[in-house]
Amino acid sequence: TDVHTDLDQHAKQLDKAHVFHSWSAQKAFDPLVIAGGLGTKVWDHAGNEYLDFSCQLVNVNIGHQHPKVVAAIQEQAATLATIGPATGSLVRAQAAQRITAKAPAGLDKVFFTNGGADAIENAVRMARLHTGRRKVLSTYRSYHGNTGAAINATGDWRRLPNEYATGHVHFFGPFLYRSEFWATTPEEECERALHHLRRVVESEGAATVAAILLETIPGTAGIMVPPPGYLAGVRALADEHGIVLILDEVMAGFGRAGEWFALDAHDVVPDLITFAKGVNSGYVPVGGVVINEAIAADFDETVFPGGLTYSGHPLAAASIVGSIDAMESEGIVENARRIGADVLAPALADLAARHPVVGEVRGTGVFWALELVADPATRAPLPPPLVAKAKGECVRRGLIPFTVDNRIHVVPPCVVTDDEVAQALPIYDEVLTMLDKEIA
Ligand code: PLP
Repeated sequence: TDVHTDLDQHAKQLDKAHVFHSWSAQKAFDPLVIAGGLGTKVWDHAGNEYLDFSCQLVNVNIGHQHPKVVAAIQEQAATLATIGPATGSLVRAQAAQRITAKAPAGLDKVFFTNGGADAIENAVRMARLHTGRRKVLSTYRSYHGNTGAAINATGDWRRLPNEYATGHVHFFGPFLYRSEFWATTPEEECERALHHLRRVVESEGAATVAAILLETIPGTAGIMVPPPGYLAGVRALADEHGIVLILDEVMAGFGRAGEWFALDAHDVVPDLITFAKGVNSGYVPVGGVVINEAIAADFDETVFPGGLTYSGHPLAAASIVGSIDAMESEGIVENARRIGADVLAPALADLAARHPVVGEVRGTGVFWALELVADPATRAPLPPPLVAKAKGECVRRGLIPFTVDNRIHVVPPCVVTDDEVAQALPIYDEVLTMLDKEIA
């Protein structure tokens, strides 16, 4: 064990010396070293086990080290590890076919990228070329990635030091718990949020708006499932003005929301879908855009001005085919839906009822947020030091949580079992009890 503990220390020291981390002040950064994993569990070199209820960055939908996905990558690596994008490739075509089979009718082509942000870049590029317009409307409560157009489309604070691209306009989406519209029911929130968006489109000049870009269910911003009718209302508004509707399914897609695409539970067909994360659970970096006929047809005779060395990389393609086929044959999306409806929904509602620090619970599938408040009456957000403390206390008890702003997102893999949820719940319960005392 000593040798293995040493390996964890060695990894930390090397990391500290040479790795520059995302979104972090480097000096205080203290990574949890992870050496292996299987399903919902990960462990360090010393063998300390953790339940991964973060799915890392909410992307390991199929769980860690799924044998069929690992085998698909190994077999492809042994056959042909890399090939340029301007080639035909059976495995790439199969990956595109698997993805479009899950998309609504009429969205039949896939442009592959290296991840989610560049999927957004290319969807925005397509929308601008298709409409001949520049502006892209997206919500303040959103995250779309960290490249030029993607970070500008992002609504949260991370765009502020990174505003390089132009033509991005933000608006408020529906979020009843913290309504911007003085709404008290989902119906009011829906109607007023749609009115607000209509006024933004009109005030910006509808003829200047290329795209409305929405996360089907905003993820990092708080897992706000849109009220019934909202997305259909946005679709109608976009149609009225010839605006392209892009639904960002990077986080919500491929089982996370208990559906293949989160949009399947809503009455809406977008023009473009962006995906990444859950499509192959991040075993190899990949993302892409699913494109409808009208936009794809623009580039039948005209050259599409975009490309990437690794577009449709064979290892990524093999991992997509392996992952979608395993999710299909093992009923993994159905498991996510059942766990959400029958296990997480009642259990998290029970936690909320017993803990004053929980202001609201919301979500679907394996995509849930606990909104933490310093004062249930005013709904004042729990301050960051207490959220950080909660995170540390979860890890100490053997659970990796996903925390962001004043929230804990309960986002286990789609393969999570009833038993694993039963192991996690007392940990959340104890940590929430600690937080209750802090705010009492
Ligand atoms: N879009 C959404 C909805 C996301 O959640 C993310 C990442 O969290 C992105 C886009 C960006 O994806 P990536 O980090 O792969 O560039």
